[in-house]
Amino acid sequence: MTSLQPTESTDVVLVGAGIMSATLATLLNDLQPEWKLTVLERLDAAGLESSNAWNNAGTGHSALCELNYAPQAADGTVSATKALNINEQFQITRQLWSSLVENGTLGDPKTFINSVPHISMVFGEDHANYLRARYDAFKPNKLFERMEFTEDREQIAQWAPLTMHGRGAGRVAATFAPEGTDVDFGSLTNQLLRHLGGRNVSIQYGQQVTTLHRQSDGSWLVSVKDRLNRDNDRVIRAKFVFLGAGGGALPLLQKSGIKEAQGYGGFPVSGLFLRNVDPTVTSQHNAKVYGQASVGAPPMSVPHLDTRYVDGERAIMFGPYGGFRPNFLKQGSLLDLPRSVRAHNLYPMTRAGMANLDLVKYLLGELTKTRSQRIEALHEYYPTAQESQWELIEAGQRVQVMKKDKAKGGVLQFGTELVTSADGSIGALLGASPGASTAVPIMLNLLSKCFPSKMSEWEPRIKELIPAYGVKLNDNPQLADEIMGHTASVLGIK
Ligand SMILES: Cc1cc2nc3c(=O)[nH]c(=O)nc-3n(C[C@H](O)[C@H](O)[C@H](O)COP(=O)(O)OP(=O)(O)OC[C@H]3O[C@@H](n4cnc5c(N)ncnc54)[C@H](O)[C@@H]3O)c2cc1C
Repeated sequence: MTSLQPTESTDVVLVGAGIMSATLATLLNDLQPEWKLTVLERLDAAGLESSNAWNNAGTGHSALCELNYAPQAADGTVSATKALNINEQFQITRQLWSSLVENGTLGDPKTFINSVPHISMVFGEDHANYLRARYDAFKPNKLFERMEFTEDREQIAQWAPLTMHGRGAGRVAATFAPEGTDVDFGSLTNQLLRHLGGRNVSIQYGQQVTTLHRQSDGSWLVSVKDRLNRDNDRVIRAKFVFLGAGGGALPLLQKSGIKEAQGYGGFPVSGLFLRNVDPTVTSQHNAKVYGQASVGAPPMSVPHLDTRYVDGERAIMFGPYGGFRPNFLKQGSLLDLPRSVRAHNLYPMTRAGMANLDLVKYLLGELTKTRSQRIEALHEYYPTAQESQWELIEAGQRVQVMKKDKAKGGVLQFGTELVTSADGSIGALLGASPGASTAVPIMLNLLSKCFPSKMSEWEPRIKELIPAYGVKLNDNPQLADEIMGHTASVLGIK
């Protein structure tokens, strides 16, 4: 209980205006239009942190090219299970986006999604053998049936010419998936929120949530600092709170005091990309080319050479180069990490840190790299790249989840984690991968955890928006053709 006096009431507070809150607000407004939603964003506009196009790689993650979703077992075999799960999740995302284009919520799909084939490319005997084993495991599956494999240099040069110009001798292997995509999550976030403005959804910028208190009736009092007008600091009462604050979600989750938050910590990883906007170069590359992580490198630091479509312009990005900064948000504070340490997460964080010393070493090594060392890494993928054409840009912060583990004391994990209270009155999204591409299934999961009694009422509408909701397309080949064919045609992708 607290003595704070609320001056406003709302049904739902969504903290943060990134892709997660935008997706949840879109779903809730459709399913329960009479609910009043309030989006509170500390910055002056939507999608300026991780969801911004230049702060992430824009890969429509569907496990077509990211090798970390299919690690090789000690006996040399590769399992497609995790990759299939990620691909199924992206199909759910594709279905919602298609419905939103069809009903006019989203504009021309080219403004947020473009067809960019996904390629995995590796060098040397071991990696080439692994890629072949991965291809053999993937190919029989419906969702990966269009994947091609080759070691023929001519063929790879046709798929991604820049990667083969001037390349020296040695074994090279690649897979090609024509249905890959590039996504501008910033544009998507803005379009979704723009559509919601005025529809019982209040979107307020410059509003920082500082703390929150649970009341005895299960509602929340959310304290808001107005960064534009100090006289407007206030308290909002909400029946449900979503912490979609990206890196800012962990500190707020800790302040909520819910017992489910116990033991969670965060490890921030910063990043840099190289960007080239010269049309004579960008016109020669239409692919996302993902490689194999080097020893000790975290999975999200696997280098890739990406075609990007942002604001109607084509660019190429290479990276990310990992690094370390203690901020939880790009526009956050250097004190974010030390301030997040609590008695309940100190042990798990220490254990997770001790078990990941090679990661820390890797990130420190990346931090101290010179520009010419970064260009050297680029040359592995694009041997004739000209240094003068590339500018270094700062990526978004990723706060990797650290949490308790019975056997190990504490673990560092690279996925996303939904934390909800037992009474379903609050939910928070931690972590970053596969991230924005899976915003739709993650938010559907949040709805089923926090509003279990509403799901049977909502399900018919969810199935109108996402016709294959609850169905595994990989196990239903005919339905897969129908759904994937339809979403491809609506979204203008393959
Ligand atoms: C380098 C990098 C590469 C990535 N590549 C990909 C990729 O290729 N494909 C992919 O699908 N995903 C990728 N991701 C992950 C993806 O970007 C994120 O999962 C996604 O953008 C997270 O969305 P969000 O809405 O949770 O957070 P954000 O977009 O970060 O939004 C959170 C918002 O909350 C606001 N906020 C924070 N604290 C407060 C507060 N106290 N009060 C009010 N507002 C607050 C912030 O200002 C921000 O606007 C990448 C991420 C990074 C960093």
